[in-house]
Amino acid sequence: MQEGKPGDRSAFSFEVHTRLQATADGLGKDGARHGRTGVIHTPHGDIHTPAFVPVATQATMKAVLPEQMRDMGAQCLLANAFHLYERPGDEILDAAGGLSRFMNWDGPTFTDSGGFQVLSLGAGFKKTLAMDVSGLQSDDVIADGKERHAFVDEDGVTFKSPLNGSMHRFSAEISMGIQHRIGADIMFAFDELTTLMNTRQYQEESVERTYRWAQRCVAEHQRLTQERVGKPYQALFGVVQGANYEDLRRHAAQQIASLDFDGVGIGGAIEKRLLGQICAWICDVMPESRPRHVLGIAAVDDIFAGVENGGDTFDCVAPARTARNGAIYTRDGRWNVLRTALKRDFRPLEEGCDCYTCQHYSRAYIHHLLRSREMTGSTLATIHNERFFIRLLDDIRASIDGGYFDEFKRETLARFYANGSKG
Ligand SMILES: [Zn+2]
Repeated sequence: MQEGKPGDRSAFSFEVHTRLQATADGLGKDGARHGRTGVIHTPHGDIHTPAFVPVATQATMKAVLPEQMRDMGAQCLLANAFHLYERPGDEILDAAGGLSRFMNWDGPTFTDSGGFQVLSLGAGFKKTLAMDVSGLQSDDVIADGKERHAFVDEDGVTFKSPLNGSMHRFSAEISMGIQHRIGADIMFAFDELTTLMNTRQYQEESVERTYRWAQRCVAEHQRLTQERVGKPYQALFGVVQGANYEDLRRHAAQQIASLDFDGVGIGGAIEKRLLGQICAWICDVMPESRPRHVLGIAAVDDIFAGVENGGDTFDCVAPARTARNGAIYTRDGRWNVLRTALKRDFRPLEEGCDCYTCQHYSRAYIHHLLRSREMTGSTLATIHNERFFIRLLDDIRASIDGGYFDEFKRETLARFYANGSKG
């Protein structure tokens, strides 16, 4: 970073280390699968990939300090542009010196574009990337008991603030301005998120609209990079939509690949069983030199499918959100620490776990804290669950570099899901 000069783009780059060997049924190209290990270099440090990206929605991990995240091996954090725009306001983060300094996180950060939150107001459905659907398709479907709070037009989205009911507008240019002021190392283009409920025709229109918005995002991003001198370079990832349709996904990937993005976000509505395939369709088209982020992963098997088919980074709110309700991730599956039987169980959450919680605290104690609604219960459970996912991605990375990914995947999934575990 230099005074009076625009951010230096060479501060952001990606290098591939090991490509995943081809298998008879694996998807890939040039004699390898799409999965790989590598390093993303950012102005705030390196991310060794594949990597887990913990979600710090409001510029904080709920219940856990950044220092603790660093101690448990977190490499980077993802905050939410829409929430920070609403509160405290992106100009506050800009005045503080950017997201990383504001939250005392001395490492790389991501922001999502806000499109997901804004557009979710349009249907009132809870949407994770890998959702299960029953085949219902209509562009007017709204969740029971919900009112539509977001409206899409060619230029952007108008929506009602969930905080105070006031009307707001998001567009490509507005999202870029907000994300530049927030100052994360990796940002995402403003895209239209559809649901699997939308019709094929709507998905087609939406892919084209997302492409037009992507072009505007690149132009505005380049303008802001030149204008906002003295700031570190911020990388911009384009987002590929197209729901479950192979032709639409490939077409959208070609459109995004043709633009001057630093990386790609694999987003939108994806049926769980197609997650790996959709990543592979996109990676077929995308230049290998661009890192790939899979947005909003939901489960352990989704992470393996995403890594095998070319995902480099993965964000997931599940470990923190479920921890606060007592759900604990272990190698032997996910179970709940609130169960009455654990009231007198003085073992750690997971035997052999290297996290701070398991080194010092018992199931019985965490059971007691969460039942008493004590905040430290959330802290201890979140530390364990976040460490579980960070370590999982670290272990996957080692297995690719060491040439034993397939055995590791088989053993990990067999053990995790042996008892019909969710997650
Ligand atoms: Zn633990």
